[in-house]
Order: sequence, then structure tokens, then C-alpha cells
Amino acid sequence: MKREEKIFKAETKELLNLMIHSIYTNKEIFLRELISNANDAIDKLKFKSLTDTDILKGDDKFKINISVDKDNRTLTITDNGIGMTYEEVDDNIGTIAKSGSKLFKEQLEEAKKGDIDIIGQFGVGFYSGFIVADKITLETKSPYSENGVKWISSGDGNYEIEEISKQDRGTKITLHLKDGDEYNEFLEDWKIKELVKKYSNYIRYEIYFGDEVINSTKPIWKKDKKELKDEDYNEFYKATFHDWNDPLLHINLKVQGNIEYNALLFIPKKLPFDYYTKNFKRGLQLYTKNVFIMEKCEDLIPEYFNFISGLVDCDSLSLNISREILQQNAELQVISKNLEKKIISELEKILKNDREKYIEFWKEFGRSIKAGVQDMFGMNKEKLQDLLIFVSSYDDKYTTLKEYVDRMGDNKEILYVPAESIDVVKSLPKMEKLKEQGREVLILTDKIDEFTL
Ligand code: ADP
Ligand code: MG
Repeated sequence: MKREEKIFKAETKELLNLMIHSIYTNKEIFLRELISNANDAIDKLKFKSLTDTDILKGDDKFKINISVDKDNRTLTITDNGIGMTYEEVDDNIGTIAKSGSKLFKEQLEEAKKGDIDIIGQFGVGFYSGFIVADKITLETKSPYSENGVKWISSGDGNYEIEEISKQDRGTKITLHLKDGDEYNEFLEDWKIKELVKKYSNYIRYEIYFGDEVINSTKPIWKKDKKELKDEDYNEFYKATFHDWNDPLLHINLKVQGNIEYNALLFIPKKLPFDYYTKNFKRGLQLYTKNVFIMEKCEDLIPEYFNFISGLVDCDSLSLNISREILQQNAELQVISKNLEKKIISELEKILKNDREKYIEFWKEFGRSIKAGVQDMFGMNKEKLQDLLIFVSSYDDKYTTLKEYVDRMGDNKEILYVPAESIDVVKSLPKMEKLKEQGREVLILTDKIDEFTL
């Protein structure tokens, strides 16, 4: 059977070093990452099985299993999900997913200077195991290959990969914990339970620890809102949407009537790291009858809200929906319109009630909204115009167009100056005069501002 020893790509190695030795202090998040991968793997299998019933072979109750072995200092996470073929292990685990990109290398340089939190930016999932382990063994079996695969690494530059005989489908990850008191707690029952409750409670598959199921399996969006705290949403968001920051905002919708659905939407704090690359895909997760249908359903969210993540669960959709049929699906179109309206009204609410928070949002995502105003010959401008804010010479702060108009008195025009910065505009001789006349000027520092107006 095939067996190879390989070395990590240079940037993978650098990242591992950085992660293990310096920036990441919150050790415990590794468990969330590994459980999240197990969850994704079961989702993938379940989805594939809709069209390829053979891969299940009737054995299945999907589950994730955690176990500890104190004598050998190991912590093991097992799933019966999709598993990986030899090539997939090599591609997915042997290199950091997006590591080849130039962007990644640049960010890595910045991170070394201490400027950015690279893990927060990239969410290096699987590798976070090396925060607590000095050796990781991964054994996996895909329904699409005859043999299993074993991958072993100490996170120090090399890994071994070999074919093994393995019967049961899925993935088993064994962490050999580092020596040192601070790692001992990850072998304790109470700690494992605490971490699962804290970070992975709303994983939809049962997480077993011994004979006991230690998570709440009921989807968070099916829970009574009264039972949920901000932390519940935040942890669910981070575990599900691969962000290491809390979201700026969540929207929990339970809609009844003609079309019944639940939606849970999140506005992140920061632009996704790959936002400006062609790897970036918008869309919401789509579920029906508790089956995960699609990771990024574009039709649920307009282009200018492409930074929003979340999910829709609608039981009346048909299970074997294909991509093409989805696009013409009338129910999805209605849902999408509703979500758009809801997001706009939530944003307007923040703009009205919490200006500081809105500005934080605007600095990150204002460009997308402005692009939305311009797009399709301004088709959506009316919907979006009340979300626009610009810096004004009135008080050098952000203003809405409506606020500007309210201050205009008898004047009929909105004045604006495109410029590099507020200071440049303030030093213009003309400004003095306008000020005397009590006129207010919008200062357009973003290239797309002028065209937006
Ligand atoms: P991400 O989850 O953001 O893609 P990770 O580093 O967590 O990044 O995982 C990298 C890839 O490795 C995953 O996209 C997946 O293809 C694969 N993988 C990781 N864990 C598993 C698992 N338990 N079962 C199957 N595939 C897995
Ligand atoms: Mg992951």
C-alpha cells in the first residue's frame, strides 16, 4: 500500500509555528474546530446520500464521539461522516487550505510583526489541534475508496501519509496532548463536557462522551428565542461560519403563514479575509426537514448583502432540489425578498439607535451597500438610500442624507467634494466662504462615493 513522507509547504510551517508559539492564547478552541469539521463531514455525507443511497449501506446513526485516555494522554474525536480519500487528505490536511494565495503570505508577514491575528483572519481549523498536541494522528475512510488513510504529524514540518485497511467510514482524529499541567485538563470529563456545552452545543448531530450525549442536538434556530442568550448565538456563529470573532449582529426570524421558515442571519464584525478574492462565495446555508441541502445558496441573499452569513430552514422545500430548480423556486424568491427587507430594517434601526455601532458596520461594509446602490442601473437605490452615510463638513461626523436635507433650509442642492481626506477639503479656500453662508458639504473620501450620489 502507498506510503509517503512529506514536508509541509513553507507557509504552513510558518503558520504552525506562529500558532503554537505565540499569538494564540485561547487553547481550548481546538475542540470546537475539530467538532465543527466532524459536523461538516456528516453534513456532506448526508447530502451526498440524497442522490447516492449506496454510500450509507444502512448502518447509520450519524454521530460524533469523543474519548480520552489518561494513561496515554490522548484525546480522540471520531465521526462517521464522509471521510477522505488519500488525495483528499493530502490536499486538505497536508497543506493549509488557502495557503497558496499571495494574500495569505502577505498576511502572514503582517502577523509576524504582531499586526494581525492570523487565526482570526483565516480560521486554520484542523491545525489548531497543534495548540495542545505534540502529535496528531488522523485515520479516515471515504466511501469512494477501498482503503483507509492514515496521516501523522508532530506539526514540526513533516507528515507521514499511508494507506491502511480501515472498514468503518469516517474520520478519527487522535491528539497526543503535550506535557505540562495546562494540558491535563483536556483529559478530564468535566472539561470536555464544559467545552462542548460552551462551543459546540448546537451541533445538530449527537456528540457522545462515553454513553452520554453531551450536546443539545436541537437546532438553535428551532429553540424558543427566550431560552437563548447572546453567547448562544455567538458561539453557534463562530462554530458554524468559520469566524473567530463574535458577530456584530444576529437576526433570528421565525416566519409563519403561507411559507413557513426559520432564518438566522449574522452580520460579521469584519470582512471575510477572502472577500476580495475570487474564492469568496456569498450565500446562506439551506436546510429542509433537518437535512442540510446547500452551503452557499446565493438566491437567498442579494449581492450587496454578500457579507452576511446565516441559514434558512424551510420544511416545505423538496428534498431533492437541484441547483437549477432552486433558482426558479418561488418559495425561495419570497424568502429572499423577506430577508432583504428585514435586514434593511434592522440596519436602519441600528443607524437610528446606535450610531457608533452603525459606523463600525459602515466602515467595514459600507462599500457593498454603495455598490448595491449603483448596481443594475440603480434599481435598488430607493431601498438602500436611507442606509447611506457620508462625512459632512457640518460637524466632521457621519450624516445621513435625510439629516443633511433637514438642515438645508431654503437651499436646494446637496453639495459635495470628492477628496482624499477631510483635511484636504478643510484647507480649500472655498470652504471658508461656504461655512459663512451656513452651507454644508459632504466629503467624499471613497472613490465610489461620487458615482453613488
Ligand atoms: P475548513 O473546515 O475551514 O475547511 P479545516 O482546516 O478545519 O478548514 O479543514 C480542512 C479540510 O479538511 C476541510 O475542508 C475538510 O475537507 C477536511 N477535513 C477536516 N476534518 C475532516 C473530517 N473530520 N472529515 C472529513 N474531512 C475533514
Ligand atoms: Mg474546519
